[in-house]
Amino acid sequence: MSAVASARQILTRLHEVMAGRTHAQHKLDRVVDIIADALTSEVCSIYLLREGALELYATRGLNPEAVHVTRMAVGEGLTGTIAKNIETLNLAEARAHPDFLYRPETGEEKYHSFAGVPIVYRERAVGVLCVQHVEPRRYEDVEIEALQTTAMILSELIAHKELVDGENTFDLGEASTETEILEGLTLVKGLAAGAAVFHQPRIEIDQVVAEDVEAERQRVYRAFDKMRDQIDAMAKEPEFGKGGEHVEVLETYKMFAYDEGWSRRINEAIDSGLTAEAAIERVQQRTRMRMREIDDPLLADRMHDLEDLSNRLLRIVSGQLGTAASQGLRRDTILIARNLGPAELLEYDRRRLKGVVLEEGSLTAHVVIVARAMGIPVLGRVHGINSKVSEGDEILVDADKGTVTLRPSQPMWDAFDARFAKTREKQAAYAELRDVEPFTRDGTRITVMINAGLRDDVSALQLTGADGIGLFRTEFQFLVSSTLPQRERQMRLYRDVLDAADGKKVIFRTVDIGGDKAVPYLDNNTAERDENPAMGWRALRLSLEREGLLKVQARALLEAAAGRQLSVMFPMVSEPWEFDAAKEIFEDQAEFLRERRRQMPDSIEYGCMLEVPSLAEVLDLLLPKVSFVSVGTNDLTQFLFAADRANPKLAERYDWLSPAILRFLDRVSKAMVGSKVRLGICGEMGGRRLEALALMGLGYTRFSITPAAVGPIKELVRKVYLPDLTKHMQRLLLNPPADMRAALTEWAEANDIELD
Ligand code: PEP
Ligand code: MG
Repeated sequence: MSAVASARQILTRLHEVMAGRTHAQHKLDRVVDIIADALTSEVCSIYLLREGALELYATRGLNPEAVHVTRMAVGEGLTGTIAKNIETLNLAEARAHPDFLYRPETGEEKYHSFAGVPIVYRERAVGVLCVQHVEPRRYEDVEIEALQTTAMILSELIAHKELVDGENTFDLGEASTETEILEGLTLVKGLAAGAAVFHQPRIEIDQVVAEDVEAERQRVYRAFDKMRDQIDAMAKEPEFGKGGEHVEVLETYKMFAYDEGWSRRINEAIDSGLTAEAAIERVQQRTRMRMREIDDPLLADRMHDLEDLSNRLLRIVSGQLGTAASQGLRRDTILIARNLGPAELLEYDRRRLKGVVLEEGSLTAHVVIVARAMGIPVLGRVHGINSKVSEGDEILVDADKGTVTLRPSQPMWDAFDARFAKTREKQAAYAELRDVEPFTRDGTRITVMINAGLRDDVSALQLTGADGIGLFRTEFQFLVSSTLPQRERQMRLYRDVLDAADGKKVIFRTVDIGGDKAVPYLDNNTAERDENPAMGWRALRLSLEREGLLKVQARALLEAAAGRQLSVMFPMVSEPWEFDAAKEIFEDQAEFLRERRRQMPDSIEYGCMLEVPSLAEVLDLLLPKVSFVSVGTNDLTQFLFAADRANPKLAERYDWLSPAILRFLDRVSKAMVGSKVRLGICGEMGGRRLEALALMGLGYTRFSITPAAVGPIKELVRKVYLPDLTKHMQRLLLNPPADMRAALTEWAEANDIELD
């Protein structure tokens, strides 16, 4: 292939064609001529999507009879592969590629090399532009870039409807209207329906060719300045001085933001005649391609960072700032995002936000913890959601089954509505139990409290009629904040929660951060990062070492509870001395306040979680010290079975109703008999009916559960006759059946206890 004409020349010529008042077909014919001339390629062809297949629309070099005859399915042949994967192919020997498909009518057998780029419109491939050559060779970067630029111009023509006329129609890759069901990983269970809204609104590049190159250069300079200021401002936040993963990310951002190579390449693209937006996008495409070829996971991570930064630059330059939250939600919404931060989620209107679908996401992501607390179903790892859905499409999220239905048919809606209605009916029945105190048939009062962590959760107390908050996860405030919450801020939250609880009991658990609930501003440095975070430096272990952290929290809690009762619970206590040490920090702070004659809580009680099995072996030593013990079955199970609670592969493997757990819980319950210490349960297990039934049979009478479970558990309690249940549970534990779950279900049915 001979020397490549300057990119600017190609652009100018393409621009002339674009502006011309000729038929669309003529324009396409001219485009292939220009590219073939410029790249002195023997073949240049344009395929466009029509009726779902890629059709040859224009060619220089292939058999002209093949135009409007040769058609490839998306995914078929090299052209179809480019469209399907939305990626560039650069092949010295086309036949060697596994997807190569020979079409005799084209007469392409003599060509060896092949390069093709997708023509993308609204994140979908609507066509492919390719060149071929007899000589086997890989195409140079400048040649690929020329193709990519041309593809951008073609998509601009498409956007402006300049390639459609009487004889010439094709699919705009326009929003599919077909129903599609995608699978994902359940992150937060539940059902939701609404219209798709992209968290990051798409940036449409509607002008590719610059009218004034100098003006474009200035625009990109200013955008770079602004972006660098933003990154520098983030780095100046004092919390970033302490090391940790966040700092690393920020360092990478900084490195890219100041990378001369990146800005130079964008400037070169502008020199070639592109607008600032098109230049940023073009450079990004090139980097994406390079990184794909390198195939190194570490580099892939960096690629992610650069992609993020490139998007930020594009937003700044185009003035399209802000997420969908800042524009407000107008109807019931299913939010679509690659990933979300917890703070970003909290910016949305809770009344309108019905569900979240993520391309990525993992069970332990902070956003998932927050979404669960907000009662918003979340489905993660839904591959391709961003390109398969259009803004405004109707979506059904079934996060119980792990599916998302795009553009559902009427029967699908009907089936979904029926399920929804059933859920609502049940909820209405539960709502009627709001003011009913839960007594078993034999007259035992069961305490039903809720787990909470956000200010808004407290409203669930009134809605459900729960007895109080048995677990307030104070770390939520830390997780949703980008900086360490100061004492005043902590105090305000705790005071608001106590105010809203209006005299009902609230048990504040001191921060359970570290490990997988890592916060950037407290993280240890990377060299020491926990390999096994659940068993690592977390919760009370971290709080006792970072004594300042617990001191501040103690002061905030003591001040917030002035004139009321304060209940404090410590997480992850493994040995009684840890409880003593934590309590001492509180008592010192209380003394400090007393000396200054500040108003104190009316009473202070201390308790701890039982979630590390070792503590169960020393209950006799612990009980004289505490007012209450709350069993955290989430962690307890993972430690008892050595099974990571965040690993989806193990999620179904160990049953809460296994004899090992039930016997363990039975032992704990028996060890408490005769003691004044209150025993409760606050893991997820307590919110499930069959599990709660088993727990009541083991003597547990205090439950702290997710708010949605309060109604169902209250209803269950009213059906139970404890003496019978207790006897039955003891029998089962003595001689465990092969399937404990089945045996308990059978007993419940025989006793007229509904379970779902
Ligand atoms: C538990 O471990 O059971 C618990 C309630 O605490 P968390 O889920 O916050 O670890
Ligand atoms: Mg726990």
